[in-house]
Amino acid sequence: MAAEPPEDVDWGEHCAGAGPPALVEIRGVYAGGLFYECARCGFAFQRWSKGHYLHDKARRYIIMHNERRAVARLDSRSHP
Ligand SMILES: [Zn+2]
Repeated sequence: MAAEPPEDVDWGEHCAGAGPPALVEIRGVYAGGLFYECARCGFAFQRWSKGHYLHDKARRYIIMHNERRAVARLDSRSHP
């Protein structure tokens, strides 16, 4: 599932040319895309504007997602 990020969400210059990011659903939290994931590198970023009731909830999962991703990268480096 892919979608264009809303204009008020800043995903910066992240992986320019990667194409539209994927929506990630966390079951039991929100029935739908809770946050975006870069189609190229898997980096997660915010879908909701500040003040939206899902913004803070999504933020926790975005941080967890990116921490796991960082750990996975370290693992693959130590086991080539
Ligand atoms: Zn990326």
